[in-house]
Amino acid sequence: MRTVYINGNFVPENEATISVFDRGFLFADAVYEVTAVLGGKLVDFQGHLTRLRNSLSEISMVLDVDDETLLAAHRKLVEANGLDEGLIYLQVSRGAADRDFLFPETTVPSTLVMFTQKKNLIDSPVAQRGQYVILVDDERWSRRDIKTVQLLYPVLAKNLAKKEGADDAWMVEDGFITEGCSNNAYIVTKDGTLVTRHLSTDILPGITRSAVLKCAKDLQIKIEERPFTIEEIKSAQEAFSTSASGFVNPVVRIDDMKIGDGEPGPVAKRLREVYIQTSTEMAI
Ligand code: PMP
Repeated sequence: MRTVYINGNFVPENEATISVFDRGFLFADAVYEVTAVLGGKLVDFQGHLTRLRNSLSEISMVLDVDDETLLAAHRKLVEANGLDEGLIYLQVSRGAADRDFLFPETTVPSTLVMFTQKKNLIDSPVAQRGQYVILVDDERWSRRDIKTVQLLYPVLAKNLAKKEGADDAWMVEDGFITEGCSNNAYIVTKDGTLVTRHLSTDILPGITRSAVLKCAKDLQIKIEERPFTIEEIKSAQEAFSTSASGFVNPVVRIDDMKIGDGEPGPVAKRLREVYIQTSTEMAI
């Protein structure tokens, strides 16, 4: 049984309870982060903390827990669960109060929970063979830069993908790809240029995205941060996605379009290697 964290306490998972009035449960009035663990250490932790603070501030939610305490809690969970490789999930909700659209009085404390998930991140069969992705309309709300737990649409899209024998869905708005259900989306053009949508309220600013773009820059790969179309996918040499749980994850087919020669491409493979190496070295 796992040890989980709830509001300052470390308890066995079957002893952790949350009120039925919790606003995360009733309104999806909550934000979250997912941090990868490699070799028992936290990957890109500062980036996840910074984005968490930003998500909280964008929805005027107060979390009375400082960064040092959050880091210590992550480390304690890793230790208590003997986690060598996997993920740590963190969620903050606006606490429990009688159901009302209006924010509760400031005296209501937020609910902070964290738990671990063991997972083979490096040795991933999907990354080896390459993903098959379907395209769906992006029907999410328009503040996708805030990492809220309001994930019903991506949940439905991912399940539609599974039903069609695919691994994931990429979302499309006005003819341009926004991002994957839980990852940022990229293509590599025939002349070797890496293209990924620029940051805005249309997509989540992926922590892995930022680290991988730095790796690409170090490898002197030409980068264009701009929206790309379905037409451009057709002539792309490679495609891939990035996320804390998938790292750099090659895509070999999108709808009926075979990407490149239908195998994970060299740019995606190289970026995956370099990202895993540098993030392992820099993990804390
Ligand atoms: N976009 C969306 C919609 C996501 O849910 C995620 C992962 N949570 C990402 C991108 C990738 O972000 P990160 O690299 O920080 O995991």
